[in-house]
Amino acid sequence: MTDLDLLELRQVSKHFGSFKAVDEVCLTVRAGARHAVIGPNGAGKSTLFGLISGTLPASAGSLHLDGQDVTRLPVHRRVALGAAATFQHSSLFMRETVLENVLLAVLRRTGTGLGGWRKVSARAAAIAQARTLLERVGLPSRHDHAAAALSHGERRQLEVAVALATEPRLLLLDEPAAGMSPAETERLTELIAALPGEVTVLLIEHDLDMVFELADTVTVMHLGRHLETGPPDQVRASAQVQSAYLGT
Ligand code: ADP
Ligand code: MG
Repeated sequence: MTDLDLLELRQVSKHFGSFKAVDEVCLTVRAGARHAVIGPNGAGKSTLFGLISGTLPASAGSLHLDGQDVTRLPVHRRVALGAAATFQHSSLFMRETVLENVLLAVLRRTGTGLGGWRKVSARAAAIAQARTLLERVGLPSRHDHAAAALSHGERRQLEVAVALATEPRLLLLDEPAAGMSPAETERLTELIAALPGEVTVLLIEHDLDMVFELADTVTVMHLGRHLETGPPDQVRASAQVQSAYLGT
């Protein structure tokens, strides 16, 4: 691990009974990277994200965030250290408005309790920040809609805003474009590309056009194992990757 590595996985495994969903994976993610993880269904990608975000405990190996061993830390401690995830399965509050969903995440980060909320200045600052985030993800006109009223693509945009509200250094995106229309996918791609360099992005995505447009580094997983990591062109050209994943 060098100073420039934000995340390091050392021989990390996740076993479900005797099944090895993630099998001794080693991986480093550079600070500032746009790093994609690809691989066929069942390769272990989402399980790997669970291990990184802390929703799943590792069966073996260790994980290091910014040099700190986080293997045994619960999700909220990892979030405090700068890891934020949007999940394949939506974690939004459906009855609350779009603005409220982001606001809750902002308040959680700033630790603003009811006392702070009663202060007009603190409240105005939190609301302004939530509005800025909604603009950044392209939802500026949807503030007052219930999350349930959003289209599928808009929900994914909102999830990204909620994740960004924690001011993450590492943003984990698990198939953010799943179920999106081509136009929505394009907008999301632009949004991710426009994130500030301090935000490191680790992205699982099936849409290979999106992967090869965004990523500076691509990791291929297959049957729970790490197959290859490299620049997009190298990965695309790899015979091993083509036979395992691209089916050619
Ligand atoms: P991917 O995201 O690459 O499609 P997953 O990480 O979701 O793959 O799953 C990897 C493998 O682990 C799959 O075979 C899946 O069925 C299995 N798996 C995932 N979660 C569990 C679980 N909680 N219990 C048992 N098996 C699981
Ligand atoms: Mg998955």
